[in-house]
Amino acid sequence: MRVPIIAANWKMHKRVGEALRFAEQLSVMIQDLEGVEVVLAPPFTALGALKEAVASTPIELAGQNVHAEPEGAFTGEISISMLADVGCRYVIVGHSERRQLFGETNELVARKVAAVLKAGLRPILCVGETLEQREAGRTFEVLEEQLSTALDGVAETQATELVLAYEPIWAIGTGRTATPELAQEAHKFVRERLRKGFGTTADRIRIQYGGSVKPSNAYSLMAQPDVDGALVGGASLDPESFYAIIQFDRPPTEETA
Ligand code: PEP
Repeated sequence: MRVPIIAANWKMHKRVGEALRFAEQLSVMIQDLEGVEVVLAPPFTALGALKEAVASTPIELAGQNVHAEPEGAFTGEISISMLADVGCRYVIVGHSERRQLFGETNELVARKVAAVLKAGLRPILCVGETLEQREAGRTFEVLEEQLSTALDGVAETQATELVLAYEPIWAIGTGRTATPELAQEAHKFVRERLRKGFGTTADRIRIQYGGSVKPSNAYSLMAQPDVDGALVGGASLDPESFYAIIQFDRPPTEETA
Protein backbone atom coordinates (compact mmCIF):
# COMPACT_ATOMS: atom_id res chain seq x y z
CA MET A 1 0.00 0.00 0.00
CA ARG A 2 3.01 2.32 0.38
CA VAL A 3 4.99 2.60 -2.85
CA PRO A 4 8.67 2.40 -1.85
CA ILE A 5 10.69 5.51 -2.67
CA ILE A 6 14.43 5.43 -3.33
CA ALA A 7 16.08 8.85 -3.53
CA ALA A 8 19.63 9.83 -4.50
CA ASN A 9 21.08 12.74 -2.57
CA TRP A 10 24.08 13.81 -4.62
CA LYS A 11 25.02 16.61 -2.22
CA MET A 12 27.75 18.81 -3.78
CA HIS A 13 28.68 16.34 -6.50
CA LYS A 14 28.24 16.19 -10.28
CA ARG A 15 28.42 18.91 -12.87
CA VAL A 16 25.65 19.19 -15.46
CA GLY A 17 27.28 16.82 -18.00
CA GLU A 18 27.87 14.16 -15.34
CA ALA A 19 24.31 14.46 -14.09
CA LEU A 20 22.95 14.06 -17.62
CA ARG A 21 25.09 10.98 -18.29
CA PHE A 22 23.88 9.42 -15.04
CA ALA A 23 20.21 10.12 -15.86
CA GLU A 24 20.61 8.68 -19.33
CA GLN A 25 22.17 5.46 -17.99
CA LEU A 26 19.68 5.10 -15.15
CA SER A 27 16.63 5.70 -17.30
CA VAL A 28 17.65 2.79 -19.57
CA MET A 29 18.18 0.56 -16.51
CA ILE A 30 14.80 1.34 -14.97
CA GLN A 31 12.66 1.48 -18.08
CA ASP A 32 10.69 -1.67 -17.15
CA LEU A 33 10.69 -1.03 -13.42
CA GLU A 34 7.39 -1.02 -11.57
CA GLY A 35 6.28 -0.54 -8.00
CA VAL A 36 9.04 1.79 -6.84
CA GLU A 37 9.49 5.53 -7.11
CA VAL A 38 12.94 6.81 -8.06
CA VAL A 39 14.05 10.35 -7.18
CA LEU A 40 17.25 12.26 -7.94
CA ALA A 41 18.31 15.24 -5.82
CA PRO A 42 21.16 16.82 -7.80
CA PRO A 43 22.84 20.15 -7.10
CA PHE A 44 20.62 23.08 -8.11
CA THR A 45 22.79 23.80 -11.16
CA ALA A 46 21.87 20.48 -12.80
CA LEU A 47 18.12 20.65 -12.25
CA GLY A 48 17.23 22.65 -15.37
CA ALA A 49 19.02 20.26 -17.72
CA LEU A 50 17.72 17.20 -15.88
CA LYS A 51 14.14 18.43 -16.15
CA GLU A 52 14.31 17.90 -19.91
CA ALA A 53 16.36 14.71 -19.65
CA VAL A 54 13.95 12.90 -17.30
CA ALA A 55 10.71 14.27 -18.76
CA SER A 56 9.79 11.03 -20.51
CA THR A 57 11.20 8.73 -17.80
CA PRO A 58 9.80 7.64 -14.43
CA ILE A 59 12.54 9.61 -12.62
CA GLU A 60 11.35 12.39 -10.30
CA LEU A 61 13.51 15.32 -9.22
CA ALA A 62 14.09 16.83 -5.79
CA GLY A 63 15.77 19.94 -4.45
CA GLN A 64 18.36 19.31 -1.72
CA ASN A 65 17.20 22.36 0.23
CA VAL A 66 14.92 25.37 -0.13
CA HIS A 67 14.16 28.71 1.48
CA ALA A 68 10.92 29.01 3.44
CA GLU A 69 9.96 32.40 1.96
CA PRO A 70 8.36 32.61 -1.49
CA GLU A 71 10.76 35.31 -2.72
CA GLY A 72 12.82 38.25 -1.52
CA ALA A 73 16.25 39.59 -0.70
CA PHE A 74 17.89 36.29 0.31
CA THR A 75 21.16 36.19 -1.60
CA GLY A 76 22.22 32.68 -2.53
CA GLU A 77 18.89 31.06 -1.73
CA ILE A 78 16.36 29.17 -3.88
CA SER A 79 12.58 29.37 -3.55
CA ILE A 80 10.01 26.61 -3.81
CA SER A 81 8.50 27.99 -7.01
CA MET A 82 12.00 28.07 -8.56
CA LEU A 83 12.38 24.37 -7.74
CA ALA A 84 8.94 23.60 -9.18
CA ASP A 85 9.91 25.55 -12.29
CA VAL A 86 12.87 23.22 -12.94
CA GLY A 87 10.82 20.09 -12.49
CA CYS A 88 11.06 19.27 -8.78
CA ARG A 89 8.27 17.33 -7.15
CA TYR A 90 10.18 16.74 -3.92
CA VAL A 91 12.39 18.81 -1.62
CA ILE A 92 14.75 17.41 1.01
CA VAL A 93 14.17 19.39 4.20
CA GLY A 94 16.19 19.32 7.40
CA HIS A 95 19.01 17.07 6.21
CA SER A 96 21.45 16.61 9.09
CA GLU A 97 24.18 18.38 7.11
CA ARG A 98 21.90 21.42 6.88
CA ARG A 99 21.18 21.19 10.60
CA GLN A 100 24.79 20.63 11.69
CA LEU A 101 26.78 22.70 9.18
CA PHE A 102 24.31 25.48 8.43
CA GLY A 103 22.57 25.85 11.76
CA GLU A 104 19.05 24.85 10.69
CA THR A 105 16.80 24.54 13.71
CA ASN A 106 13.66 22.46 14.19
CA GLU A 107 11.65 25.68 13.91
CA LEU A 108 13.19 26.61 10.55
CA VAL A 109 12.68 23.06 9.31
CA ALA A 110 9.01 23.32 10.35
CA ARG A 111 8.59 26.53 8.34
CA LYS A 112 10.11 24.89 5.30
CA VAL A 113 7.90 21.80 5.60
CA ALA A 114 4.78 23.96 5.84
CA ALA A 115 5.85 26.14 2.90
CA VAL A 116 6.70 23.18 0.67
CA LEU A 117 3.34 21.51 1.35
CA LYS A 118 1.46 24.77 0.82
CA ALA A 119 3.10 25.12 -2.58
CA GLY A 120 2.01 21.60 -3.56
CA LEU A 121 5.45 19.96 -3.49
CA ARG A 122 6.43 17.06 -1.26
CA PRO A 123 8.94 17.46 1.55
CA ILE A 124 11.36 14.65 2.37
CA LEU A 125 11.71 15.50 6.04
CA CYS A 126 14.93 14.20 7.59
CA VAL A 127 15.21 13.35 11.27
CA GLY A 128 17.80 11.44 13.25
CA GLU A 129 20.02 11.37 16.28
CA THR A 130 23.77 11.82 16.79
CA LEU A 131 25.93 9.02 18.17
CA GLU A 132 26.20 10.88 21.46
CA GLN A 133 22.42 11.14 21.73
CA ARG A 134 22.00 7.45 20.92
CA GLU A 135 24.60 6.41 23.44
CA ALA A 136 22.92 8.56 26.07
CA GLY A 137 19.64 6.71 25.38
CA ARG A 138 18.02 9.86 23.97
CA THR A 139 17.16 8.66 20.45
CA PHE A 140 13.37 8.66 20.86
CA GLU A 141 13.41 11.94 22.77
CA VAL A 142 15.35 13.60 19.92
CA LEU A 143 13.06 12.13 17.27
CA GLU A 144 10.00 13.25 19.22
CA GLU A 145 11.35 16.80 19.46
CA GLN A 146 12.24 16.96 15.75
CA LEU A 147 8.93 15.47 14.65
CA SER A 148 6.62 17.39 16.95
CA THR A 149 8.08 20.74 15.85
CA ALA A 150 8.28 19.91 12.15
CA LEU A 151 4.78 18.45 11.94
CA ASP A 152 3.06 20.99 14.14
CA GLY A 153 1.51 22.96 11.27
CA VAL A 154 0.78 19.99 9.00
CA ALA A 155 -2.90 19.15 8.50
CA GLU A 156 -4.04 15.54 8.26
CA THR A 157 -5.22 16.22 4.70
CA GLN A 158 -1.65 17.14 3.70
CA ALA A 159 0.06 14.32 5.53
CA THR A 160 0.09 11.79 2.68
CA GLU A 161 2.25 14.23 0.70
CA LEU A 162 4.97 13.90 3.33
CA VAL A 163 7.93 11.58 3.10
CA LEU A 164 9.97 11.02 6.25
CA ALA A 165 13.63 10.00 6.24
CA TYR A 166 15.05 8.49 9.40
CA GLU A 167 18.78 9.14 9.13
CA PRO A 168 20.88 8.33 12.19
CA ILE A 169 23.66 10.90 11.91
CA TRP A 170 26.32 8.40 13.00
CA ALA A 171 25.50 6.33 9.91
CA ILE A 172 25.63 9.10 7.31
CA GLY A 173 28.70 8.91 5.11
CA THR A 174 30.50 6.79 7.72
CA GLY A 175 30.06 3.33 6.20
CA ARG A 176 28.34 2.40 9.47
CA THR A 177 24.74 1.32 8.94
CA ALA A 178 22.02 0.81 11.49
CA THR A 179 21.17 -2.86 11.76
CA PRO A 180 17.80 -3.70 10.21
CA GLU A 181 16.46 -4.20 13.76
CA LEU A 182 17.66 -0.79 14.94
CA ALA A 183 16.27 0.86 11.84
CA GLN A 184 12.90 -0.87 12.30
CA GLU A 185 12.76 0.16 15.96
CA ALA A 186 13.27 3.84 15.03
CA HIS A 187 10.90 3.65 12.05
CA LYS A 188 8.22 2.09 14.26
CA PHE A 189 8.64 4.97 16.68
CA VAL A 190 8.31 7.48 13.83
CA ARG A 191 5.21 5.68 12.51
CA GLU A 192 3.60 5.73 15.95
CA ARG A 193 4.37 9.42 16.30
CA LEU A 194 2.75 10.01 12.90
CA ARG A 195 -0.31 8.05 14.06
CA LYS A 196 -0.59 10.35 17.04
CA GLY A 197 -0.76 13.34 14.71
CA PHE A 198 -2.57 11.95 11.70
CA GLY A 199 -4.41 8.80 12.81
CA THR A 200 -4.61 6.00 10.27
CA THR A 201 -3.28 8.33 7.54
CA ALA A 202 0.11 7.53 9.10
CA ASP A 203 -0.08 4.11 7.47
CA ARG A 204 0.10 5.81 4.07
CA ILE A 205 3.17 7.95 4.85
CA ARG A 206 6.47 6.62 3.55
CA ILE A 207 9.46 6.48 5.87
CA GLN A 208 12.86 6.14 4.21
CA TYR A 209 16.00 4.94 5.93
CA GLY A 210 19.22 6.83 5.25
CA GLY A 211 22.76 6.15 6.43
CA SER A 212 25.32 4.27 4.34
CA VAL A 213 22.72 2.35 2.34
CA LYS A 214 24.54 0.14 -0.19
CA PRO A 215 23.61 -2.67 -2.57
CA SER A 216 24.74 -5.14 0.12
CA ASN A 217 22.42 -3.89 2.87
CA ALA A 218 19.40 -2.50 0.99
CA TYR A 219 17.61 -5.86 0.91
CA SER A 220 17.68 -6.47 4.66
CA LEU A 221 16.84 -2.87 5.56
CA MET A 222 13.96 -2.66 3.13
CA ALA A 223 12.58 -5.99 4.36
CA GLN A 224 11.60 -4.27 7.62
CA PRO A 225 7.88 -3.56 7.86
CA ASP A 226 8.19 0.18 8.48
CA VAL A 227 11.09 0.87 6.09
CA ASP A 228 9.54 2.19 2.89
CA GLY A 229 12.55 3.29 0.94
CA ALA A 230 16.00 4.78 1.20
CA LEU A 231 17.69 8.15 1.00
CA VAL A 232 21.09 7.36 -0.43
CA GLY A 233 24.18 9.57 -0.46
CA GLY A 234 27.55 8.04 -1.44
CA ALA A 235 26.20 4.90 -3.12
CA SER A 236 23.88 6.96 -5.33
CA LEU A 237 26.73 8.60 -7.21
CA ASP A 238 27.32 5.56 -9.39
CA PRO A 239 24.38 4.47 -11.58
CA GLU A 240 25.15 0.74 -11.21
CA SER A 241 25.21 0.84 -7.43
CA PHE A 242 22.14 3.10 -7.25
CA TYR A 243 20.31 0.74 -9.58
CA ALA A 244 21.28 -2.24 -7.41
CA ILE A 245 19.72 -0.42 -4.43
CA ILE A 246 16.57 0.31 -6.43
CA GLN A 247 16.32 -3.47 -6.92
CA PHE A 248 16.20 -3.89 -3.14
CA ASP A 249 13.76 -6.79 -3.37
CA ARG A 250 16.53 -9.02 -4.76
CA PRO A 251 18.82 -10.55 -2.13
CA PRO A 252 22.44 -9.35 -2.54
CA THR A 253 24.51 -11.39 -4.97
CA GLU A 254 28.26 -12.11 -4.75
CA GLU A 255 28.75 -9.02 -6.90
CA THR A 256 26.81 -6.68 -4.67
CA ALA A 257 27.60 -8.20 -1.25
C1 PEP B 1 22.51 11.15 3.07
O1 PEP B 1 23.21 12.02 2.61
O2 PEP B 1 21.32 11.39 3.33
C2 PEP B 1 23.10 9.83 3.32
C3 PEP B 1 22.37 8.93 3.89
O3 PEP B 1 24.40 9.66 2.90
P1 PEP B 1 25.18 8.23 2.84
O4 PEP B 1 24.30 7.28 2.09
O5 PEP B 1 26.45 8.53 2.10
O6 PEP B 1 25.39 7.80 4.25
